[in-house]
Amino acid sequence: MRNLRRSDILTHCTLCPRRCGVDRTVSKGFCGEDAGIRAAKAYLHMWEEPCISGTNGSGTVFFTGCPLKCVFCQNYAISQQGTGKELTVRELADVFLRLQYSGAHNINLVTATHFVPQILDALDMCKDELTVPVVYNSGGYELTETIDMLKGYVDIFIPDLKYFSPEVSGKYSAAADYYKYAEKAVRHMVKTAGRPVFDENGLLKSGVIVRHMILPSHRRDSDALLRSIADLKDDILLSLMSQYTPFFRAHEFHEIDRRIYTHEYRKVLDTVNETGFEGYSQERSSAREEYTPDFDMQGL
Ligand code: SF4
Repeated sequence: MRNLRRSDILTHCTLCPRRCGVDRTVSKGFCGEDAGIRAAKAYLHMWEEPCISGTNGSGTVFFTGCPLKCVFCQNYAISQQGTGKELTVRELADVFLRLQYSGAHNINLVTATHFVPQILDALDMCKDELTVPVVYNSGGYELTETIDMLKGYVDIFIPDLKYFSPEVSGKYSAAADYYKYAEKAVRHMVKTAGRPVFDENGLLKSGVIVRHMILPSHRRDSDALLRSIADLKDDILLSLMSQYTPFFRAHEFHEIDRRIYTHEYRKVLDTVNETGFEGYSQERSSAREEYTPDFDMQGL
């Protein structure tokens, strides 16, 4: 893949583990997107981890489409229902620069896997002016070849690690092979970005933050997942998320049609403490709607 010209990658797309092989110049892949860049919002996001949002906010761009099909997706309007505005590469580069000049501590690319070639073109266009770190914020369902394309462009990786069991990931994200790819991807991101490095203000300059959101009725899956990557405890920051809210189609699955219980959160937190991860955990009271932005094309 790396030997192809970027524009050629889109004519036989294998950017993510779906490996559709579709020609995106004439049709759409499983992610729902063709060769045009689409995004639904660009703004200073204050609700990322403190080392990412800092005092001014993270310059976040929410891209349209997604290689995963999570039934509880809080961003389903853009990930699965196609809300978004088409941008040229030049317009995307200008969005990055506008965010930087409005004070963003970093440029935060949310769900960008299926637009990597176009995003690299945009970063090339503004590289002489862009001085803040670039964050690749992903569902974790990634190929190592695509991560290799990001070397030299991305400083910080924030992958989710959502599920351990193939049954669970198949049921809720239509990706029974999720963990097989996501674990390898996280380890490859660590090799690429190295251990976390902070600046003098406590903002992350480079490194990997792994996010895990606890699902209701699935604390054993969380437990197995955390133990399986425990050897990375000195290499990553862990962000344990408890804000699960049953959005989108979650009501079709009674076991996840609620927020998590305190005892579920505490059990998973025990595993985090036992395995020795450093990082962030949110109080259960933080399960609020502020985490769900309106996709109103602001900033595009
Ligand atoms: S990025 Fe989209 S088109 Fe490309 S392989 Fe993945 S799902 Fe298919």
